[in-house]
Amino acid sequence: QRFRAAAALADDPGPPGWAVQHRAPAPVGFGNASDTDPALPSNQEWARTIHRRLPAPLLGADAVRRATLADRAELDRALDEGRAAGARWRATPPAERAAVLRRLAGQLEAARTDLVTVAADEVGKLIDQADVEVSEAVDFARYYAERALDRVDGARHVPPALTVVAPPWNFPIAIPLGGVAAALAAGSAVVLKPAPPARRTAALLAEAGVRAGIPDAVLQFVVVDDGPLGQALITDDRVDQVVLTGAAETAALFRSWRPGLPLLAETSGKNAIVITPSADLDLAVADLVTSAFGHAGQKCSAASLGILVGSVARSRRFREQLVDAVTSLRVAWPTDPAAQMGPLTEPPGEKLRRGLTRLEPGQTWWVAPRRVDERLWSPGVRWGVAPGSEFHQVEYFGPVLGLMTASSLDEAIDLQNGTPFGLTAGLHSLDAVEIRRWVERVEAGNCYVNRGITGAIVRRQPFGGWKRSSVGPGAKAGGPHYVASLGSWEPDGWPT
Ligand code: GLU
Repeated sequence: QRFRAAAALADDPGPPGWAVQHRAPAPVGFGNASDTDPALPSNQEWARTIHRRLPAPLLGADAVRRATLADRAELDRALDEGRAAGARWRATPPAERAAVLRRLAGQLEAARTDLVTVAADEVGKLIDQADVEVSEAVDFARYYAERALDRVDGARHVPPALTVVAPPWNFPIAIPLGGVAAALAAGSAVVLKPAPPARRTAALLAEAGVRAGIPDAVLQFVVVDDGPLGQALITDDRVDQVVLTGAAETAALFRSWRPGLPLLAETSGKNAIVITPSADLDLAVADLVTSAFGHAGQKCSAASLGILVGSVARSRRFREQLVDAVTSLRVAWPTDPAAQMGPLTEPPGEKLRRGLTRLEPGQTWWVAPRRVDERLWSPGVRWGVAPGSEFHQVEYFGPVLGLMTASSLDEAIDLQNGTPFGLTAGLHSLDAVEIRRWVERVEAGNCYVNRGITGAIVRRQPFGGWKRSSVGPGAKAGGPHYVASLGSWEPDGWPT
């Protein structure tokens, strides 16, 4: 079963109350909540609090201890305890499970500054982006609390006893929390296995869970690497299902370890924004730059390709604006309050290094990336990406954008669809006929018109892909079917 996204038009206000994510006073330069609410610290004060705390030791000894790698015995105990707790949790009335999740939302709000600080320190998220993630996590907790109460006439939902949630490091707050909240809403106990580079942030999330009153042992926090212990976790019979967000290769690895494993996975993307001659070029350039270089391109939703239709490909104005925008981005560590693009979480591996340094035949740099530090690279833009070339097909997960050209919208859509993935896709066009044509033909889970292609919003724009971008039932995170897709359904007696 697949859930196709309707194109999210930029002016759709969404259901009342959800159009805007709630957020704390944003850091310098991003709105000014304190103008309207005197109880909130000013933006500057809040940003300064965070910057003062970076990069001091951030966690109490207890949380640090729990964020260290588990051994075999600890893993075993977590699985035993978790499974036993799962039997109790599934018998807990849905209204109580929902209440726990709503308290969890409150605890996340309360932990906002800690979460932002630790995520910035640990994976290099810039303050504003980490802040938005806390908001998304709060939205997940509240939204899945509602979904815990959903009913289907004539059917009975059978929760799994134990779910492993295996999130990535690139969204160290929202994605782990979303997985945990969904599994809890579905009535399952959870083993949260954080991505090792993001484990201190995950420990804070687990702590918020404890404060929210998740009953004893229902949430297990176990740090294992992807070696033998990781394999032992995924293949253990006590685990009923796995919720994964990560590379397509990781999903394939899990499946090879355990072929029948119920797996709900959101995986890689190779995402493009198509820009036609009717587009508002100022807006298109701004959206292309934010989508490509937000969090240094380390999002599966990121724009990795711009596909320029007809005269856009020959437009000097487009080239100048794009190059100006990219070269003027302030590349710096999260400790710099004016940073616009931050570091990589880890030094580039072999593939990303190729993406940042090596051109394929026929390509030139409009902007060549520079290495400031092993983890800090300035953004790059390459021109002349050919159909079927490596850059057209491969996900690099870093700050490098490739440009392709097409003579018509249909040719552009063929290029956009011509990868193994189908996660996000964008169109910039002010022509209603073009927009309709694109919406009919584009093959991606999240489709955006005249907007950037990152930053899906819980409930309003659930997140999930097509093709090799997803594994499992295809329900989207933050959407109506996600919680229900965990576990199974049985007919509930006979109709009378
Ligand atoms: N949900 C995020 C977005 O819409 C992307 C998540 C990811 O990169 O895994 O930008």
